[in-house]
Amino acid sequence: MKKAIITGITGQDGAYLAKLLLGKGYEVYGLLARRATATTWRLEYLEILDKVKLIEGDLADITSIIRAVEEAQPDEFYNLGAQSFVGTSWRQPQLTAQATGIGALNCLEAIRIVNPKIKFYQASTSEMFGGIPEYPIQSESTPFHPRSPYGVAKLYAHWITINYRESFDIFGCCGILFNHESPLRGIEFVTRKVTDAAARIKLGVQKELRLGNIDAKRDWGFAGDYVKAMYLMMQQEKPDVYVVATGRTTTVRDMCKIAFDRVGLNYENYIVIDPEFYRPAEVDLLLGDPTKAKEKLDWQAETSLEELINMMVDADIKRVENEMRRAK
Ligand code: NDP
Ligand code: GDP
Repeated sequence: MKKAIITGITGQDGAYLAKLLLGKGYEVYGLLARRATATTWRLEYLEILDKVKLIEGDLADITSIIRAVEEAQPDEFYNLGAQSFVGTSWRQPQLTAQATGIGALNCLEAIRIVNPKIKFYQASTSEMFGGIPEYPIQSESTPFHPRSPYGVAKLYAHWITINYRESFDIFGCCGILFNHESPLRGIEFVTRKVTDAAARIKLGVQKELRLGNIDAKRDWGFAGDYVKAMYLMMQQEKPDVYVVATGRTTTVRDMCKIAFDRVGLNYENYIVIDPEFYRPAEVDLLLGDPTKAKEKLDWQAETSLEELINMMVDADIKRVENEMRRAK
């Protein structure tokens, strides 16, 4: 039986990846950061909380990662843990650098010390490209120009993974994943904020939706599809870097239209532009070229943006209805 450890197992991707690996017969371990309140709701939602083994640890504490690797003795190590919200990275840049940047170094050091044969996956991001106009489509060869402390921290993690491969022959691969969403997406990200608002407005418990730059364009896919690409990268003979994307880009505005259409409302009547949600530096356009992933991994996105947003709106309607029932 193969063993895997996942940092960020309580996050969106960690939960979907754990479910995928369990389905393939893996023994799955996860690093659980100590928090004041429980963080395992996504594992409960996917009905796998009792099937994974959680080990307490924090990406900023290398000793805890070494201990976790010693305990799990994994074949594969997926580093999905991070302070992952771009907006927060300006307000907490050092914490972001520690968890998102140095965290990856701590994982690689733990592997180097405990067992350099453990394969390593780093969750790199399209935010490293920064979406500058000279490169309207981004592939593995597009130059990086991160536009947030989050993007900068991720770029460090990306390069240190490649450096540990070149320096110590560690199997370190990086998936440059474009935005991917699901009903398990954090509420602070724009898709979930919008689908939750569409549900609440439809059910009469919210009146408006305050957003920042709705002209930004993103290449949005479904997280359930994207974790399959992570797994496939780890099964290749050689570690490499892959862009994982749909190849279609859409404005935040048009994504709002899809969500509000689902509940039969006109989005234009509810959106209020609020400068609070503008960022100090914006990534205007992300559009990934997934050709290499298709050719080398035989991977492609299976869920359209319409299917994804409809799935999220439907899940949020159910959640809000349950909340309202409980409040009665
Ligand atoms: P989430 O924000 O949903 O999950 C992040 C996870 O990291 C949570 O489990 C969180 O734990 C954990 N974490 C945060 N800080 C620490 C720490 N110091 N020590 C240990 N664990 C920590 O992110 P996603 O699932 O959406 O993304 C997974 C990875 O992929 C992230 O690295 C993200 O940056 C990257 N990525 C995501 C994209 C996307 O569109 N979703 C696009 C490209 C890259 P807790 O629950 O306790 O807070
Ligand atoms: P990101 O691509 O990782 O930053 O993912 P987000 O979902 O946080 O943001 C996607 C885009 O939506 C960015 O260009 C944001 O500036 C834009 N956006 C506009 N309004 C909002 C908002 O209210 N919240 C968030 N999170 N993003 C917004």
